[in-house]
Amino acid sequence: MKLDVSLDLAKGPFEKELAVPFDVAEVTVAGEARKVEGPEEVSLHLVFDGSHLSVDGGCDCSVTYPCDRCLTDTVVDSPVEISLDFPVSDGHIQVTPDDPEDFVENGHIIDISAVIAEELLIGKPGKVLCRPDCKGICPVCGQNLNEGTCNCDRTVPDPRMQQFQDVFKKFKEVE
Ligand SMILES: [Zn+2]
Ligand SMILES: [Zn+2]
Repeated sequence: MKLDVSLDLAKGPFEKELAVPFDVAEVTVAGEARKVEGPEEVSLHLVFDGSHLSVDGGCDCSVTYPCDRCLTDTVVDSPVEISLDFPVSDGHIQVTPDDPEDFVENGHIIDISAVIAEELLIGKPGKVLCRPDCKGICPVCGQNLNEGTCNCDRTVPDPRMQQFQDVFKKFKEVE
């Protein structure tokens, strides 16, 4: 959802509430598209005092990530907070053209969806587990050990070793 504030800014200082449609279907994390769910609408509070425009709001979202141990799709609650503040002059939001964090086009269009997507990326949990005691997958045959056992000859993983593997995987995902 892109919010055009040109008419609002032209009228001078104002304050208003508005709801915009939520339309973020996925976010790309480390090159992989992750499914996003959120509310129908996002409530925003806009204040323009003549020199600054602030946009505040928030919504409860969730993102589906693979479990760090067994790769099962896992829905992770990901609340989003929107808190933007832009300097305004001559009826236009003043931004540097190549600052991607400003989320503003043509000085008056705020890309709320891009803001939400960025917040979801920032909020990505360091560790994703489908359940706290996820047993992972068999390193030999790939069997999901939460769903069943296999007959592979493997030593019982040391819990410290498992942690190390999680960290290692995280680094791989960041690449
Ligand atoms: Zn798991
Ligand atoms: Zn196995």
